[in-house]
Amino acid sequence: MINQLKQYVNKLERGEINRRQFFKLMSAAGILSFTGVHEAKAFSSKAKGRIVIIGGGAAGLSMAARLNRWLDDPDITLIDPSDRQYYQPGFTLIASGVYQPDEVWKEQKTYIPKGVKWIKDTVKALDPAANKVVTSDNTIVPYDFLVLTPGLQINWHKVEGIDYNRLGEGNAHCIYDFEGAQKTWKAIQAFSETGGQGLYTDTYTKHKCGGAPKKICLLTEDYTRKQKTREKVSLDFFTASKQLYDVPYYTPRLLEIYEERNVPIHLNVRLKGVDTLAKRAYFEKRETKGDELIIEPFSREYDFLHFTPPMSAPDFVFESGLSWQEGSLAIDGWVMVDKETLVHPTYSNIISLGDVAGVPTSKTSAAIRMQVPVAAKNLIALMEGKAPQEKYNGYAACPIVTDYGHVILCEFDYNKEPDTSFPFQILDTSKEQWLAWLLKVYILKPMYFYGMLRGRA
Ligand SMILES: Cc1cc2nc3c(=O)[nH]c(=O)nc-3n(C[C@H](O)[C@H](O)[C@H](O)COP(=O)(O)OP(=O)(O)OC[C@H]3O[C@@H](n4cnc5c(N)ncnc54)[C@H](O)[C@@H]3O)c2cc1C
Repeated sequence: MINQLKQYVNKLERGEINRRQFFKLMSAAGILSFTGVHEAKAFSSKAKGRIVIIGGGAAGLSMAARLNRWLDDPDITLIDPSDRQYYQPGFTLIASGVYQPDEVWKEQKTYIPKGVKWIKDTVKALDPAANKVVTSDNTIVPYDFLVLTPGLQINWHKVEGIDYNRLGEGNAHCIYDFEGAQKTWKAIQAFSETGGQGLYTDTYTKHKCGGAPKKICLLTEDYTRKQKTREKVSLDFFTASKQLYDVPYYTPRLLEIYEERNVPIHLNVRLKGVDTLAKRAYFEKRETKGDELIIEPFSREYDFLHFTPPMSAPDFVFESGLSWQEGSLAIDGWVMVDKETLVHPTYSNIISLGDVAGVPTSKTSAAIRMQVPVAAKNLIALMEGKAPQEKYNGYAACPIVTDYGHVILCEFDYNKEPDTSFPFQILDTSKEQWLAWLLKVYILKPMYFYGMLRGRA
């Protein structure tokens, strides 16, 4: 099956078959039922209204495609400055040498659905009381309904001593960026030859794909074993959380893997800064004893560092007043929405999903795949003057790549219970599986570019 799949993907990439033929072939070969991909259910509405979508990434483009297909007479404007659409989950695979950089992006213009107006600019202000958006060139864009999907902002400046333009300096790397992922791969290969101390961190804010920092750590470890240089490197993983992973079904095996592979885990630790000249990372261990927060600063020398910067909602979202005002989702400005309907409680003509949405689940494109049909149907209900009925259950997925060839496919809901959407029920999904690796490496990317972004399931 895998050879057949590779063949179809190659044909599609070379333009020898179109998207429709690709899915037909996949379907005929039984691959689609294996992956759980289905054509979006037929649905249509005569609802009218000016829809503005801010941000054309995973969530915004998928919403544009769905709404364009489901509305009889759509009036959709998408605002996004990018020339490129990146498949960000592929950054981890670039950083481990599995994908070539050019495999993870396409031209944005080819994904703007026919009939959708594209304003190629950045939103600088949003006034929800006046139903208008202002772009960086001061164009005012009025709307009746707003889809708020600008993703999140990476706050590079919140790690002292390094910033976006200096990524790679002092061998400090980050895969949360396209160029950064490419530099990481070069650095991992060199590190495997020279050996030394490797440090890996996550961060204390919600961040996209919470599994990514763990994946790149385990992949480095496996890479050095494959290069027969494992004994030359020591690896340590630092997490700002009080546990390595917070979905109990998957945690025991993950902990075992770190132990088996001799990668110590340090809990409740935040990276504060990096001295790239001295190759020294500065941390804080934060623990609460009774009512008291005890902060212990310490530092460690490194030869290779992979760090994760803090993340938040974009500044213009903070300034719009649409964020949560209290609770754990308020501090970083995540958009206030009902966690089931994804509708803003104060402004019922605004719906938000994707990384910027303030919902208590993981920020992943897998989550977006499930949010889109709910958000699109609920927006249409609001346009029809009806109450939103569709409910999102918090589904998110994080394929944790544990080595070159295996993945623990973590799928869960708001209750942190396993919620299997891919038909792997016959397998023990709490453990690493080869089939899940095939899904991660060969299937999820075409599903993203040729399925999800085109408004398919
Ligand atoms: C290293 C890495 C690994 C990952 N691994 C996985 C994984 O294994 N599985 C998984 O499911 N997910 C994974 N993800 C997460 C996934 O990529 C994101 O959750 C997803 O892309 C978020 O989609 P989004 O539409 O909310 O934001 P994005 O896709 O980031 O899109 C946001 C869009 O908004 C635009 N924008 C931003 N600001 C403005 C503005 N002011 N005005 C107009 N437009 C604006 C941007 O140009 C962009 O096009 C990973 C991400 C990274 C970085």
